[in-house]
Amino acid sequence: MSEREPETSEEPFVNEIEVRGLIVGAFQENCWVIGNRRTGEAICIDPGEQADDILHMASEMGVTIKLIANSHAHLDHVLGVRGVQSDSNAQFLLHEADLDILRGTAESAARLGLTGGMQVEQPPDPDHYIDDEQKVEVDGVELQVIHTPGHTRGSVCFYGHGVLFSGDTLFKQSIGRTDLPGGDYNQEMSSIVDKLLMLPDETIVLPGHMDQTTLAAERAQNPFILQTLEQRGVQPGERRTPGGLILPN
Ligand SMILES: [Zn+2]
Ligand SMILES: [Zn+2]
Repeated sequence: MSEREPETSEEPFVNEIEVRGLIVGAFQENCWVIGNRRTGEAICIDPGEQADDILHMASEMGVTIKLIANSHAHLDHVLGVRGVQSDSNAQFLLHEADLDILRGTAESAARLGLTGGMQVEQPPDPDHYIDDEQKVEVDGVELQVIHTPGHTRGSVCFYGHGVLFSGDTLFKQSIGRTDLPGGDYNQEMSSIVDKLLMLPDETIVLPGHMDQTTLAAERAQNPFILQTLEQRGVQPGERRTPGGLILPN
């Protein structure tokens, strides 16, 4: 008589979510892929260039990119959209307020001399527009859209699974520039302090450029955040909602 394996009514706990990043293009942009290994579906954030390398990374992860969700439409974040989309027919999502920037991509690339005299292929228009508090999801991965204007009018961040994809809104110890068309410093600081800092402190921040960080580290060390909190009379470590309510840490 052989012994039977104990029956397991519950799936063993495994972390099904995997996030990987790739630095792409002349502007060293961080493209992120967040996938679910059980369902094999993934969301690609900001395919800025090198679509083939992004697709290769996804296949190494064992996932297929079903959605392309963009933090904003600057050309260093969109030049790989067409290539990634061609592989799996992924839907492309963007905030409507960045449509003009998107449609000016080829012109901007030529103006910046990035093309070596060649025409850059214009990215496709979005399949869907996204806005504040909407969800973007594939099977087993769900992210919440947070509209964070300031770097551009249509900048958004994506939050879920303990991770914040912060685009060019929030960087490690810095923020995205606000001197380009549609940029607004006060709006950007309000987006960061009134929206992003409301998320849990342990949230891992995966930005559009440079190193990852956490919201706790940025609350404590980011000079732009510290200055804004000081101007508002908020003590370091104290959390307030926009209405002034103090939250437990
Ligand atoms: Zn940007
Ligand atoms: Zn960028």
